[in-house]
Amino acid sequence: MCEEKTAADLLKEKLCLDQKHVALVMQDDEINEADAFCEGYKDFITLCKTEREAATFAENAAKKAGFVPFKASATYKPGDKVYYMNRNKAIILTVFGKKSLSEGVKIVASHIDAPRIDLKPNPLYEDSDLALLKTHYYGGIKKYQWTAIPLAMHGVVMLKNGKSLQITIGEKMDEPKFVITDLLPHLGAEQSKRTLSEGIKGEELNVLIGSRPFRSDKGSDLVKLNILKLLNEKYGLVEEDFFSAELEMVPACAASDIGLDRSMIGGYGQDDRVCAYPSLMAVLECKAPEHTVVTVLTDKEETGSDGNTGLNSAYLKHFIEDIAKQQGVEARDVLRRSQCLSADVNAAFDPTFPTVHDKMNASYLNKGIVVTKYTGSRGKSGTSDASAEFMGRVRKIFDDAGIIWQVGELGKVDEGGGGTVAQYVANLDVDVVDVGVAVLSMHSPFEVVSKLDLYMAYKAFRAFSLS
Ligand code: MN
Ligand code: MN
Repeated sequence: MCEEKTAADLLKEKLCLDQKHVALVMQDDEINEADAFCEGYKDFITLCKTEREAATFAENAAKKAGFVPFKASATYKPGDKVYYMNRNKAIILTVFGKKSLSEGVKIVASHIDAPRIDLKPNPLYEDSDLALLKTHYYGGIKKYQWTAIPLAMHGVVMLKNGKSLQITIGEKMDEPKFVITDLLPHLGAEQSKRTLSEGIKGEELNVLIGSRPFRSDKGSDLVKLNILKLLNEKYGLVEEDFFSAELEMVPACAASDIGLDRSMIGGYGQDDRVCAYPSLMAVLECKAPEHTVVTVLTDKEETGSDGNTGLNSAYLKHFIEDIAKQQGVEARDVLRRSQCLSADVNAAFDPTFPTVHDKMNASYLNKGIVVTKYTGSRGKSGTSDASAEFMGRVRKIFDDAGIIWQVGELGKVDEGGGGTVAQYVANLDVDVVDVGVAVLSMHSPFEVVSKLDLYMAYKAFRAFSLS
């Protein structure tokens, strides 16, 4: 049966925006390619749950792909690949292009930190024969989501002798895990009267770490003592070592496919490793681009980008200054002609909570990579607003490369808001726009993305870098 198209149908086709499901646009072999790409990604987010782990992963992958540590004293030619590690928490990967740096560089910047629960500097205590750890949460979390789920401990301890100790407990099947306890509903009547944001308070995020005492007839805090004994036997730690440590509690589960159709991925820390991974893969296979490519995996975005490993510091600017100097170019001339994709996630429309979004300007799972012209809150405060000119350029790059993309705004006007690293790069006099993957349950211990959107991100970062 074939119905004639009306004049209105034809005009609609010509004039109206029509955003199709990616799976209806992509070819079968490309969908298979995308699914295969996602297997590597699942391993990455299962393995890398802190910025340090992600930065180390990137460094090792870069070395394998022929990248060498950046030297300010060296001179580089087109196709040369270097990386700059910033304090083991942020990393810049660069492939030198055929054009002079005076024509600008192509920056793709994502972040590799994610919301989590940090241990306090003096965390270990005993109460009622239980050993517990005091914590201070990192980034924006709904605290109640972090109770009664298995947690793993990841981090680093600097010992008195100057040695650094990497710790990961709770990821392997036979390893113990940790948990933050919650009240049973039977006795939760008073707790239930609290607002959702106060349901679990910051000081109630205490991690259970032990319950058996050091066997002794006398003495107090013997359960705590037994935990210290175990930490000392296994790692040589004493209580004071917590001061020079960064120990972080993260969800102890692996990433997995979601849905009977296996179309989605569930896992921890996908904001923003779902952008970091495809940008890393894109730069690793970059040969001799026209413009020099600068891929940044940064830290501290979730706490506002402050600190020397966040993009509100000068480390990216200093790196650009260093490479500019080698070519006898002023860094400011490089920066003002540079372009950047701030590669960060957006909140996918959730049909269970439709009222927070403007449906026409929300991003959706499976509609391709999201281009977010501005973030911020209220009257566009705390954001860089990408210009029509730059939006036009990015649109053309994506369309020419067959990238499926959508526009997205983070919620309704005055509904809330959020920021990314875009403003900090833009403040360096660079053209920037946010581009990333739509995420469900963002900032929860188990976030969800679409496989095909992730693959589109990879294609988009590659096309932008090579343009
Ligand atoms: Mn983010
Ligand atoms: Mn975030």
